[in-house]
Amino acid sequence: MRYPISATLFDIAKSVIPGGVNSPVRAFRNVGGDPFFVRRAKGSRIEDIDGNIYVDYIGTWGPAILGHAPIAVIDAVHQAAKNGLSFGIPNEHEVEMAQMICSWVPSVEKVRMTNSGTEATMSAIRLARGYTRRDKIIKFDGCYHGHSDSLLVAAGSGALTFGEPDSAGVPASFAAETIVLPFNDPAAVEAAFARWGEQIAALILEPYPANAGLILPQPGFLSFLREITERHGCVLIFDEVMTGFRLGKAGVQGLEFVTPDLSCFGKVIGGGLPVGAFGGKAEIMDWLAPLGPVYQAGTLSGNPLAMVAGLTQLRELENAGAYEKLDQIGAYLQGGIEIILTEKGIPHRLNRVGSMFCLFFTDQEIINLESVKTQDMALFRKLFWAMLDKGIYIAPSPYETGFLSLAHSREDIDFTLEALEQAVAEI
Ligand SMILES: *Cc1c(COP(=O)(O)O)cnc(C)c1O
Repeated sequence: MRYPISATLFDIAKSVIPGGVNSPVRAFRNVGGDPFFVRRAKGSRIEDIDGNIYVDYIGTWGPAILGHAPIAVIDAVHQAAKNGLSFGIPNEHEVEMAQMICSWVPSVEKVRMTNSGTEATMSAIRLARGYTRRDKIIKFDGCYHGHSDSLLVAAGSGALTFGEPDSAGVPASFAAETIVLPFNDPAAVEAAFARWGEQIAALILEPYPANAGLILPQPGFLSFLREITERHGCVLIFDEVMTGFRLGKAGVQGLEFVTPDLSCFGKVIGGGLPVGAFGGKAEIMDWLAPLGPVYQAGTLSGNPLAMVAGLTQLRELENAGAYEKLDQIGAYLQGGIEIILTEKGIPHRLNRVGSMFCLFFTDQEIINLESVKTQDMALFRKLFWAMLDKGIYIAPSPYETGFLSLAHSREDIDFTLEALEQAVAEI
């Protein structure tokens, strides 16, 4: 057995936690098996409670962009903790954080902190609805925006129908306010606006969808969305919870030169502590309570430890060349994987931007959820376990993106590529 102590603990966990986990993907259902429990993590490595050590390509699903447990962040949190863990009234770190976000992301004039990405997107949707006095929203199939009711909606069966609940417990009447469209399909977006243009409060998307593998927008798609939402008085929301501060100082909007009305953040801005944020045009943000009629709140929002962890992480990323280094290590990994899989004649697509990457076992071009679903799941599953046995931890699902950090060295990548070469020979 790979990790007997973890297996025993997972049995206990299952008796007191539904499925043994506090977030479903951790249960390894997509790869068929039980998860390991982590004892500690440092840099690019993660160690389970059985003592196995892995090179980690998940980085806690994105936040660990400096690597695990970076000294600067740990020290800053220690110092802050001595002054108190939570106050529930303003602290100076919240202001520094807001200033930092506004200066890095030009489209953000004002920002509100939350405790998760889910809260950020949920609040941005409510704000857009309050501001436009409209109820309907558009989302894209395969984009994930957290687990609030309006956003846990999947595409309906017809070409132009309202969404259907993507979870038990989401009322059909809520899902009926969400229009779900295929990504990279301007005609579908035009048809939806032609039919419901006056009723659509917001269009929300991951500008680089990274929760169904990694999908990239086709040239012109994002600027098309900017133009059509503007024309219909619809709030354009970029969910950059994954991409914000990971792909560059201003996320995808900084790379693509498309300016949303509102943006959502999370993951990297928390430095590993629970943080989210949403912000954008002051004219819209000022509709939030206490200034405006849209209610939104949080006992722990702007928590001093979370702010200090996030700020310290962002300051480290300000160091010259951080994003270039991430891109270089990403390119090095990508090149190595391509060589191995091409030599073995394994059909694949490898999408990568900077430190985010996703390997699909398919020969189809990846443009939307449909194309992602063409991948060979069985092959992925075999690869996952073969890699884990060789000390490489990739996401336990073919629908997840991989993440690199500044702690990943060329030696880590060489070790990973050797493992891949052996794994591919075995599976
Ligand atoms: C992770 C994620 C969320 C949800 O954030 P949580 O902190 O898990 O609630 C929302 N949107 C995107 C794009 C994400 O990647």
